[in-house]
Amino acid sequence: MSGNVQRNRIHFVMVTNVLFQKTLFAALLLTAPFVCAQNNPDPSIKPGDDFYCYANGRWLATAAIPAGQATYDNRAMINEQTALRVRDLIHNAASAHSAKGSITQQVGDYYASFMDRATIDAKGMAPLADEMVAIAAITNKTELSAYLGSTLNSEVDGLTANADHIFGIWVNQGFEDADHNLPHIWQGGLGLPDRDNYLDASPKMAELRTHYQVHIAAVLKLAGIADSETKAPRILALETQIAQAFAPDSDASDVSKQNNPWKRSDFATKAPGLDWDAYFKSAGLATQTDFIVWQPSAVIGVSKLAVTQDIATWQDYLRFHLVEHYASVLPAAVRDEHFAFYGKILSGAQQPPNPKDAREKDAIAATNAALGQAVGQLYTQQYFPPEAKAAAQAMAANLIAAFRGRIKNLTWMTPPTKQKALAKLAAFKIFIGYPDTWIDYSSLDVKRSDAVGNTRRAEAFNRSRNLAQLKRPLDPSLENIDWPINAQIPGAVIMFSPNAEFFSAGILQPPYFDSNGDAASNYGSAGAGMAHEISHSFDELGNIYDAQGRINDWWTAEDRSQYQAAAAKLVAQMNAYCPLVNLCVNGKQVQTESIADLAGLLVAHDAYILSLKGKPDQPIGGLSGEQRFFLAYAQRWRKIQDEPSLRKQIASDTHPPGEYRSDAVRNIDAWYKAFDASPGDKLYLDPKDRVSIW
Ligand SMILES: [Zn+2]
Repeated sequence: MSGNVQRNRIHFVMVTNVLFQKTLFAALLLTAPFVCAQNNPDPSIKPGDDFYCYANGRWLATAAIPAGQATYDNRAMINEQTALRVRDLIHNAASAHSAKGSITQQVGDYYASFMDRATIDAKGMAPLADEMVAIAAITNKTELSAYLGSTLNSEVDGLTANADHIFGIWVNQGFEDADHNLPHIWQGGLGLPDRDNYLDASPKMAELRTHYQVHIAAVLKLAGIADSETKAPRILALETQIAQAFAPDSDASDVSKQNNPWKRSDFATKAPGLDWDAYFKSAGLATQTDFIVWQPSAVIGVSKLAVTQDIATWQDYLRFHLVEHYASVLPAAVRDEHFAFYGKILSGAQQPPNPKDAREKDAIAATNAALGQAVGQLYTQQYFPPEAKAAAQAMAANLIAAFRGRIKNLTWMTPPTKQKALAKLAAFKIFIGYPDTWIDYSSLDVKRSDAVGNTRRAEAFNRSRNLAQLKRPLDPSLENIDWPINAQIPGAVIMFSPNAEFFSAGILQPPYFDSNGDAASNYGSAGAGMAHEISHSFDELGNIYDAQGRINDWWTAEDRSQYQAAAAKLVAQMNAYCPLVNLCVNGKQVQTESIADLAGLLVAHDAYILSLKGKPDQPIGGLSGEQRFFLAYAQRWRKIQDEPSLRKQIASDTHPPGEYRSDAVRNIDAWYKAFDASPGDKLYLDPKDRVSIW
């Protein structure tokens, strides 16, 4: 609802950029030679001159950027297709009226209750009456603390956002303790996305705050609360004080700032104010002794506010946020007010052209959030059978074997560091498709006519599951690990802590990966994407986390300087790519990702060779396995984008444009052999100028 700032990329990276692609091979095989008709009228492009164009010309000539978008690529295509599949699965579940307690019933009824606006409108604010009574009953600091404890919700993770409530909890291993799950406590409680929205003195932000105050008053009025006009500024003032206690956004990328182990007794001494006994008791954490406090300043500041702010202001703040939290399942007037502020003013969105479609999208997102692994089961039953999982797992095993060989042969890494890298790789876990054991939702009561109740029960269910993890010893095999991504969401997650990566079923589909398709193409596309991500666990991003996912910098100063020296040639290569006359790639800015692209390509190629087990690859459509591998690699990067988007990407993205990611092939000897690239070709690099790094 409110903030969704991506934070702490170092600790936990959600890969939202293009990872994998696999060629739409059949179509291309029939239409050789590949011609980059649109970008380059020369009908006889030599692969050695423009491999990206050679591989993608036909697609580039016909693809179009959808209206209202700035870019289009394979990833967008997969997202669209997967969204339609998930929509249909949920629709079918809703019309099936399955037996109570089955996942089909739960998914279908959760969605149906969200879509049933007539019932939602008829109930008015009644579904929140009990919570309103609880807020009204607060008379002192201890009762306030107990109420705030009851709102400690598992709505944050190591990746996104500040909590919707005053604090949020994320259960994960400790930064220095790989044997126990710990509660990680996050700052939260702001209605505007960012600390700066409250503290920035610019006229633009001041105007935003004025709009927000009007919104607060409107929500209070809709909730039947008297004197909304005088209460709104007090609520805004309280939030401003909370914002002042927030850690600055710049802290988010520095994990050492978040690694603050607190004992339970530290809260009273370090952060006086709140009655912490009452708080943790009602949060279900009465016996918890160890915590990680991500933003101590927020815990200290908010705790103080429990005594400096009067109870009445806290009550109004809590009433307002209670309504905001459930706005999407409250009557039309509340939903409209919510959209008027968050949709129109904050995000600049217009009234959705088709309100039913917009509602449907929200309902699907809410169902995915509440019952993610139930939807995931429906998705994988249909689209990612066990054979697909096994095929992708076999590919992952070859990628890891290939990466092991690469680490052993590194020249820039010192021998003791290599041993640490190999130990980290030995402990590294890669999870494919979907969890072996799904979450058992059978105790979650989902009712077709109770949208607010369903939301609240799902939140309580997820919170108690998370708290239960605190009691469970951590298994080094990570077999019981909670997946941080749902199977039906196209994407991957790198979790340095623990030492694991996850690739969803949603991302492992054509054109990236086809378990029944050509292995060479799978390796060139999905394989190179997975190897790119694996390399991050060992590169300048992952080098501060050890084999057990603990903070422990395992590179030496010598490793660091030799790595940077090895990177210099690649940086120079990237600097020379200029898509427009006055616009060139910034090699330093894209260094980390370009090294990972190259690592992905090299490791995937080694792994492809491993997969052949010494047998020659069979040509398909006149193309050798080597040719199909590199074509698939180039095709995973195809992308069309308008000029502003290209300029924006080059100015700020750590990933270079797709064409130049595809051009990584010019560093690989096997590519020269596969396509007869020779001196004089535009992409030709003298062997001494070819870079590998990994
Ligand atoms: Zn990357």
